[in-house]
Amino acid sequence: MDEVIKQLPKKAAEKHKENKKFFTKLKKRPPKNLDYVMQELHEAEFQRTDCLDCANCCKTTGPLFTNNDIERIAKFFRMKPKKFIGQFLRVDEDSDYVLQEVPCTFLGADNLCSIYDVRPKACREFPHTDRKKFQQISNLTMKNVAICPAAFNIVEEMRKKLA
Ligand code: SF4
Ligand code: SF4
Repeated sequence: MDEVIKQLPKKAAEKHKENKKFFTKLKKRPPKNLDYVMQELHEAEFQRTDCLDCANCCKTTGPLFTNNDIERIAKFFRMKPKKFIGQFLRVDEDSDYVLQEVPCTFLGADNLCSIYDVRPKACREFPHTDRKKFQQISNLTMKNVAICPAAFNIVEEMRKKLA
């Protein structure tokens, strides 16, 4: 997996033009069964991919933390939300709460998340490839294919299937 992750930014850059063209077309005329197709591709890929062999999302990009996330996780640590924010989070250029540092503080050496049951919504949903109306997040997806090997494979399959 390490080699796959190392090669991913280069592979994603090579596919960028093709992906951009594909998503522009998809946005203009999304197929009626797109949600269904994405669900199938997502499930098939995550049956092959073990995130515990990877954790590249947790190592390289932090999630954003919503107020609900902050309250839930602070409660888990028996901390006041304010204290949790001061200890772990900062405000980014989009005014969102994000981690002070990556790799994520809550990631263990075994790639396990120490707050898995209460982790941020963004972590639960990453890489968003089973999201409804997937065509609406094409810019984010084109970034994610350079980080997430599963997202890369899903987009490759998607292009083959829907081209
Ligand atoms: S979601 Fe993607 S980047 Fe994150 S651990 Fe799983 S395969 Fe790796
Ligand atoms: S909170 Fe957990 S799932 Fe989310 S980035 Fe950190 S280690 Fe990964």
